Amino acid sequence: MTYRYVFGPVRSSRLGVSLGLDLLGRAVCSMDCLYCEVGPTRELTRTRAPYVPAAELLAELARWKDEHAGAHLDYVTLGGMGEPCLNTGLAEVIAGAKRLFPDTPVAVLTNATLLADASVRAELAQADAVLPSLDSLLPEEFARVNRPAPGLTPEAVAEGILAFARTYPGKIFLEVLLLSGVNDSEENLSRLTAFVARLRPARVDVTTMTRPGAYPAAKAADPAILARFREALGAALASRAVREPAPEATAAPGAATAPLTPEEIREIVLNSIARRPQTAADLRAALARPPEEVAKALAELEADGRIVAVDGFYRPLRRARND
Ligand code: SF4
Repeated sequence: MTYRYVFGPVRSSRLGVSLGLDLLGRAVCSMDCLYCEVGPTRELTRTRAPYVPAAELLAELARWKDEHAGAHLDYVTLGGMGEPCLNTGLAEVIAGAKRLFPDTPVAVLTNATLLADASVRAELAQADAVLPSLDSLLPEEFARVNRPAPGLTPEAVAEGILAFARTYPGKIFLEVLLLSGVNDSEENLSRLTAFVARLRPARVDVTTMTRPGAYPAAKAADPAILARFREALGAALASRAVREPAPEATAAPGAATAPLTPEEIREIVLNSIARRPQTAADLRAALARPPEEVAKALAELEADGRIVAVDGFYRPLRRARND
């Protein structure tokens, strides 16, 4: 059987072998980032709601566990097509994932916009690792790169992360994603350096786009600038690591399991590319299926108008999933 909210496992550059759980089910977010791999945000909101009921998410996660006994995972990662903290079932999902996978840490990817709220901080604190992102501390850059919901400021996001870190016992991996000519300025670097020195996260990952983003204005940052940010933020962290995430390989142990019908393969392909654009080679590795099966599924989905290839990366046509 296929899955609607569970995806992967993938070999994530930041977390190792990671099983994903999508808490939104569609592109609902408090930001509409230029670089978002999911595509443009369809519902820009700061309002929390049970976008997907926790019981439904946990039932699917339990089914995955039953069907993949013995699969090795480094993390169960809550994230998906939008901001996971928007789901009011966050605490229940974290607790349920920990019950289901007592030997696997649970991580949450977050844009940190809700961390100003003490109740969200308390819920999130149940996770073993939290990966907040903060791309710019300059209001004009923040507005351009993250296109946030009204009322959000980079100062408030930064203060929310600092407040969370004051009592959180788990690991914080900060991500800074740079876009060329948008948030790769010296002034941003200077403010981020001061911020990292205060936050002292376990790690800082300085990244840029490696796949098509949501808007054409998003262009990958120059390697020399990435290196400069890594060096400066590394100095701010002193002994701790600031690193370039390892190249991502999507094949993961346990990805290939029981034989799949063509319909199931099409569904898995759709589910997978809904969360990030992928090449045919990415999909072959992630699904661990024979090349001809993946090629057939892609050709059929393309012929049905459900997916499109842009520069070799497949992504769903919106109507296929989000409308
Ligand atoms: S990149 Fe993350 S924070 Fe930005 S729009 Fe996409 S899901 Fe939301």
